[in-house]
Amino acid sequence: MALVAAITLAVTAGCHSPGSPAVAARARPSSASTPGPAQSPQAAQPGAANPFAGKLPTFGPLPAPHPIALPGGPIAPIYQRLPVDQPVAFLTMDDGQTQLAQAHELMQAANIPFTMFLIAPVAGANPSFFQRLTASGGVIEDHTLTHRSLRGRPYEFQRQEICGAKTSLEQTFGTTVRFFRPPYGNYDRNTLKAVHDCGLQAAFYWSETVNNGKVRYQTPLHRIQPGDIILMHFRPGFIKDVTAALRAIHDAGLTPALLEDYLR
Ligand SMILES: [Zn+2]
Repeated sequence: MALVAAITLAVTAGCHSPGSPAVAARARPSSASTPGPAQSPQAAQPGAANPFAGKLPTFGPLPAPHPIALPGGPIAPIYQRLPVDQPVAFLTMDDGQTQLAQAHELMQAANIPFTMFLIAPVAGANPSFFQRLTASGGVIEDHTLTHRSLRGRPYEFQRQEICGAKTSLEQTFGTTVRFFRPPYGNYDRNTLKAVHDCGLQAAFYWSETVNNGKVRYQTPLHRIQPGDIILMHFRPGFIKDVTAALRAIHDAGLTPALLEDYLR
């Protein structure tokens, strides 16, 4: 995917005092009542031979998140990374067209939280695939109806793409959709206004991409930084990409956390 070289990045620090109490750390899907060192997925699923068990990096328990206050105002903020003060990074997966049968076992073995920005009709065509991923730590968010580049399009068009997808995803999955990612990372002020007007709280760009098992860093550091947002897709290389992302997060001494836990 061609990266957008020049974007106007408005990483917005919160200007509200953090009024809501910190929420408890989101329990990992298969370790809900087992704080302490991460258990192997085999231990959590007795009798189920998971082909990915023992082949993925393991992480210690998630810290209780220190949430970042959303700024409020007439347009939604967009984040390339989150200004966290904890050793966490965020894995995100976009689109949804390639639905590998092994994805569920993979994410069950990975035992991490992640965010899925889905094209609503793609998700709606096979909801059980994504529903099962929510049982393995995934949260479903908005990635438009038709995946057109939004930048420069009229406000009404953008609003329809964003609100329509939110409504559709919420009806399909019975969840509340809070976040948005613009297709191709292309957006303008109308996008962020529509995101806000559709009742969504924030939009997201990314700090790194993963494709064909390779992490592409956006800075010369070549290392995931705390708060980074990692982008991958539902592609044929899904297994390689999840593995590469988790290795990179692990090698940086970080733990995968959930965007939804860090923005309140
Ligand atoms: Zn996309």
